[in-house]
Amino acid sequence: MSSKLVEADWIWHDGEFVPWADAKVHVLSLAMQFGASVFEGIRCYKTANGPAVFRLPEHLRRLRDSCHIYRMELPYSAEELTTACTTLIEKNGLEECYVRPIVMRGYGAAGMDPEGSPIETWIAAWPWGTYLGEDALEQGVDVCVSSWNRMQPNTFPVEAKAAGHYTNAQLIKMDALASGYIEAIALGPGGLVSEGSGQNIFLVRDGVLISPAAEGVALSGITKDSILTIADDLNIPTRRQAVPREALYTADELFFTGTASEVTPIRSVDRITVGAGKCGPITRQLQWRFLDIARGEADDQHLWLTPVRSSAAVV
Ligand code: PMP
Repeated sequence: MSSKLVEADWIWHDGEFVPWADAKVHVLSLAMQFGASVFEGIRCYKTANGPAVFRLPEHLRRLRDSCHIYRMELPYSAEELTTACTTLIEKNGLEECYVRPIVMRGYGAAGMDPEGSPIETWIAAWPWGTYLGEDALEQGVDVCVSSWNRMQPNTFPVEAKAAGHYTNAQLIKMDALASGYIEAIALGPGGLVSEGSGQNIFLVRDGVLISPAAEGVALSGITKDSILTIADDLNIPTRRQAVPREALYTADELFFTGTASEVTPIRSVDRITVGAGKCGPITRQLQWRFLDIARGEADDQHLWLTPVRSSAAVV
């Protein structure tokens, strides 16, 4: 599993490019003390026309929403952040990468009142391969149901992608790894299926693509939205419904979606084989179409790609 960061050369910090090794914050920044930062995870794919960022406007909009929920003033427009991301990719000479914008509360305030800590914006980009292991996209992964639940609505706002929420995600992930699984599916507070530690989940049963109705307990993923759109394009029927744990075992197909995980088939849950125990036909159809669009090999009919070279500033 490619869990170690692969360094690039430059990181964007409030309008300046700083060398990777110099991108530092004070240990008493509120982001460090209390997890007071919001972030995004974005992928840039190699295409025949150079690198292209997948659904950049939607990610930047979610970043702004996360800031708004946490009362943080994001001092940059979508256009400025678009240029910052694409210029960073270009300046680092990256053909294919993961992009991580972070908006954080910095050094100054001592306690819960963040007044006195400046807002800092950072954007990093680095090469990152398949998130859930070398063969994950092809062979699928073995997962468990986590002993940790997702947060109750009105405790943490799950639609904000805030760093502090990921202490819960790390518990889910570490719990899975400690038991010999690569990932886990978390249940929501009502005991119904919500999502993985950093990915949404889909089921297929009798030819219908099912997404858990998990408002308030799962992030509305941009990859999930892309898969639902592609399913419509391919005339695959879809349904949103409450999903009990046992439906995971009896699904014909099961898969994760996420920017890092892309479309990863799940071949077993709690060591119970799902369907035929390998990537199912509907999963494969959706996965191929998704990757073909992301890699610029299929018509970008929904305008999901932002080409880096035509959007980057000259540096
Ligand atoms: N749920 C969680 C908790 C996540 O962290 C992510 C990754 N951002 C997702 C779902 C998938 O979202 P997306 O497809 O927008 O990456």
